[in-house]
Amino acid sequence: MDIKDKCVVSFNYVLKGESGDLLDQSDSNPLSYLHGAGTLIPGLEKALEGKTSGDSFNVTLAVDDAYGQVRPQLIQNVPKAMFKGVETLEPGMEFETKGKDDQVMLVRIEKVEDEEVTINGNHLLAGKILIFDVDIVDVREATEEELSHGHSHEGGGHNH
Ligand code: ZN
Repeated sequence: MDIKDKCVVSFNYVLKGESGDLLDQSDSNPLSYLHGAGTLIPGLEKALEGKTSGDSFNVTLAVDDAYGQVRPQLIQNVPKAMFKGVETLEPGMEFETKGKDDQVMLVRIEKVEDEEVTINGNHLLAGKILIFDVDIVDVREATEEELSHGHSHEGGGHNH
């Protein structure tokens, strides 16, 4: 069947940056998602629309169709004392924190200085042009349960 809303799609992918550097790829299991639920980045979901099982394609996504622009207001210097109790503070470590509207957001440590720590709440792939190589493995109708949850139940691994 062709990919449209309310389909569960499984696909393998290789994600590269603009200069051909490998950024990510599907592991031993294909990635599975519910089409039309907005769980994929918009440009990739649009590129998958109408394709079918067995199709392979390559798509280059502009920053705005991928993870969006880097938002400078999400990069902040905070006092090191905020991380009291964390034994070793290193760049690249990730912490969950509550944003303005109580939304849980993931921040990454960018820089550690004597008194201050620079944290970055942008997605790691924000501000990047992304190139996806996609192989579609399977397309099927979503179950009632998947539709009511708004996500695919393929492969498990998610919490309810
Ligand atoms: Zn569910």
